[in-house]
Amino acid sequence: MLIGVPKEIKNHEYRVGLTPDSVREFVNHGHAVIVETNAGIGIGCLDGQYEAAGATILGTAAEIFARADMVVKVKEPQAHERKMLREDQILFTYLHLAPDAAQTRDLVDSGAVCVAYETVTSAQGGLPLLAPMSQVAGRMAIQAGAHCLEKAHGGAGMLLGGVPGVAPAKVTIIGGGVVGENAIQMALGMGADVTVLDRNVEVLNALNNRFGAALKTLYSSASALESAVFVSDLVVGGVLVTGAAAPKLVTRAMLKGMRPGSVLVDVAIDQGGCFETSHATTHTDPTFIIDDIVHYCVANMPGAVPRTSTYALNIATLPFGLQLADKGYRQALQDNPHLLQGLNVYHGQITYQAVAHDQGYAF
Ligand code: NAD
Repeated sequence: MLIGVPKEIKNHEYRVGLTPDSVREFVNHGHAVIVETNAGIGIGCLDGQYEAAGATILGTAAEIFARADMVVKVKEPQAHERKMLREDQILFTYLHLAPDAAQTRDLVDSGAVCVAYETVTSAQGGLPLLAPMSQVAGRMAIQAGAHCLEKAHGGAGMLLGGVPGVAPAKVTIIGGGVVGENAIQMALGMGADVTVLDRNVEVLNALNNRFGAALKTLYSSASALESAVFVSDLVVGGVLVTGAAAPKLVTRAMLKGMRPGSVLVDVAIDQGGCFETSHATTHTDPTFIIDDIVHYCVANMPGAVPRTSTYALNIATLPFGLQLADKGYRQALQDNPHLLQGLNVYHGQITYQAVAHDQGYAF
């Protein structure tokens, strides 16, 4: 199969669909790979590295879309890219179609076979192609929070881990899923005093088994949450209620009970945020202060570390991409029910129920 990798064109998107390492895997499986010139520049991978891995470099996205049997990307195709998709071509990327009528219509009209990273499932019931970005965001949340606690950034002027003779900062993490677990690991690693709250007791059990007595676990009742937030120097919001906007767990009134200079990092901002005072920010202007509390609410945290994020994403997507290439989409989708869950659009039909429902298509 001929695999095509265009350069991402969405604003401030520096990731790329395949790393040179992944290209080499496709080539080792007997496939050919064409890569748009400078596609990997944002993660420090030059055309020569792709060529050394066995790819052919082409000058324009138009050549990639015109020739490839399967186009591998990161972000949903932009309007200009959608015009270049064709009947029977495989598109393998994040799509997030449910709220995007224009993209849904164009993909239906294209006749392409569109497999969305975000709806591919795993035998454990998770979303394995979304998880790597939550891992990155969870780890970054502590890095960002530590930075915000510095005086120059409006924080209380505290070192997360303290020093011998001086107590560490208190960190509360709301939501113990993928974001939460990764934030806990970083915060404990930096020597902070860490508490996690979740509504799922099984999640708390698993975290307790993993981190032991170093981690305090609390059932996320309104009272427990309020008490934990009031004594915290850093609060990380990593909750998710599948398919719904994030619940507002920290209200504006609660900010008055926190110490001035404390920090809120709202990772759940891409679902509307779990703090009442949150609004989405960008990497160029990531924070704002309300009632003396520093807020960090960047909606695409992994975008700050495109190299790590691309490699993490590729580890997760590669096995599925290879199945599509090795077997052809018909056989690969028939053989793997988890990959089939990723199929959102197939030859002019919406094949994912939630998208069909939200966009008013027959299913
Ligand atoms: P997850 O499903 O793995 O974990 C969410 C956890 O929240 C679950 O354990 C759930 O039980 C818990 N929860 C739900 N309601 C709760 C409540 N009231 N109190 C306490 N816990 C509660 O999800 P995840 O992968 O960790 O993602 C978390 C959020 O982070 C999502 O909104 C996701 O979209 C977002 N995210 C943001 C970025 C970013 O760049 N800002 C990047 C990746 C993920």
